[in-house]
Amino acid sequence: MNKSSQTESDTTKLNPGDQGEPGTPGVGENVCPECKGKGRIGVTSCPTCGGTGKIIEGIGGA
Ligand SMILES: [Zn+2]
Repeated sequence: MNKSSQTESDTTKLNPGDQGEPGTPGVGENVCPECKGKGRIGVTSCPTCGGTGKIIEGIGGA
């Protein structure tokens, strides 16, 4: 048993709108549908993409 603990310490942090980690087969970056890629809604950071304006979503696949 040697379970590495590299979950979300200094690696990529997923946002609520992300459906997978970057680099994972079957997912890809896309413009956040909530903020239209602006990263914010009004004066607030978009909670869906975490203010990045991008989300990771599943593309195609089974
Ligand atoms: Zn957004």
